Amino acid sequence: MATLLDGKALAQKVRAQLKTKVDKHKVTTGRVPGLAVVLVGEDPASQVYVRMKNKACEEAGYKSIVNRMPDSTTTEQLLAVVNEYNNDDSINGILVQLPLPDQINESEVLYAIKPEKDVDGFHPFNVGLMNIGADTLFPCTPYGCMKFFEEYGIDITGKSAVVIGRSNIVGKPMASLLIKANTTVTVCHSKTKDIASVCRQADIIVAAIGRAEYVTADFVKEGAVVIDVGMNRKEDGKLCGDVAFDEVYAKASYITPVPGGVGPMTIAMLLANTMKAFEAAL
Ligand code: NAP
Repeated sequence: MATLLDGKALAQKVRAQLKTKVDKHKVTTGRVPGLAVVLVGEDPASQVYVRMKNKACEEAGYKSIVNRMPDSTTTEQLLAVVNEYNNDDSINGILVQLPLPDQINESEVLYAIKPEKDVDGFHPFNVGLMNIGADTLFPCTPYGCMKFFEEYGIDITGKSAVVIGRSNIVGKPMASLLIKANTTVTVCHSKTKDIASVCRQADIIVAAIGRAEYVTADFVKEGAVVIDVGMNRKEDGKLCGDVAFDEVYAKASYITPVPGGVGPMTIAMLLANTMKAFEAAL
């Protein structure tokens, strides 16, 4: 039976450490980190994420702005808002909540965020730095996944890792951070043949595909570490991951639950990135 990688507890710990830093900075510099989140439209899931990010910021003592813009917003209007925050010294992090409505040029908006305020880590400048192994603002979800290894003392050096999914926000940066941490990485996607047999070779599996309970026990080598990034709704409306938890739990050495695994870490790392951007700007 596996040990649970408790993302809720780890995220609380990270957020408490950040709050202590904020209190210290307030005394020494009179300043606190500032995050601006821009939400365009009414997407219900995005509204929930933005509320959670805002609450986490306020609890840690950050300045937190949520700018809600109508569904009809144009690229130019959104660029003007991004530019305003680019030039605002009290704002250290800018996050434009995805997905954006179809009429908006998403790349143009994301690339307009100053790289030093790109706390999502999606700007090509930061992606490039990450891929050459340099320190920068890393995408929050994969960065949060990496924190589990550190916290639970899991030695991943020289281990083989399989990442399922190759999106720009999870799969690819996850692979990059795992390479940086000296694992040997294979990335699978929708065109990969026989993913189960690829996964069975792995010491570490990271599932980030968005398919409910796709990774079953026959994908998993006895004692593997399994990180489940997926967030899916089952037919009964219940939240579940990309991993069939009960059967994989019986085989893995460590596993993240859904909910309470990777999700809370994503928000904690957003706050950590904003602190990093703030400290770099002091
Ligand atoms: P995405 O952009 O839709 O990418 C999904 C990836 O999975 C693609 O690379 C796709 O392959 C691959 N894929 C899809 N079906 C597959 C299959 N049957 N077999 C193999 N590969 C398959 O999704 P994402 O944004 O990376 O998110 C993935 C999951 O993580 C979603 O459930 C999302 O909700 C969740 N998520 C959670 C958090 C969190 O904080 N917990 C954050 C972000 C995302 P192709 O490239 O070939 O199409």
